[in-house]
Amino acid sequence: MRHNKWLKKIAQEIWHKYFADISPTNDLRVKFGKRARWQLGCIRQSLKKGSPSIVTINGYFKNEIVPQYVIESILAHEFVHYLTGFSSSRPKLFRYPHRGGIINREMRRRGLVEIEKKQKEWIDKNWNKVIKTQEH
Ligand SMILES: [Zn+2]
Repeated sequence: MRHNKWLKKIAQEIWHKYFADISPTNDLRVKFGKRARWQLGCIRQSLKKGSPSIVTINGYFKNEIVPQYVIESILAHEFVHYLTGFSSSRPKLFRYPHRGGIINREMRRRGLVEIEKKQKEWIDKNWNKVIKTQEH
């Protein structure tokens, strides 16, 4: 099983590889959350000024049958929210987090399209199996 320490290492690698141009305005943390059927990941920040942004990754991804690139792609997606000012202290560049192809544009610009495509394909094919084969 993967742990938060592993996740943190992967997150740092992704940040250095694809987001090195972004200077963080507030702390960005990652952790595994509960196992959830639908939400693969999310980013939250409490309203208190300067509080850390916390990326939570679905607990099902602790299982090593899930390829690492799936987690990397989800982390990258959440990092795009961070850099566009959603759940972070950076200026909010848009009104809604997913509107108008914001995410797609950033993913493309940063060379993350392929990994995202692979991730979606893997999820489409395997997600039900992942959920079913783990006892609750
Ligand atoms: Zn999103």
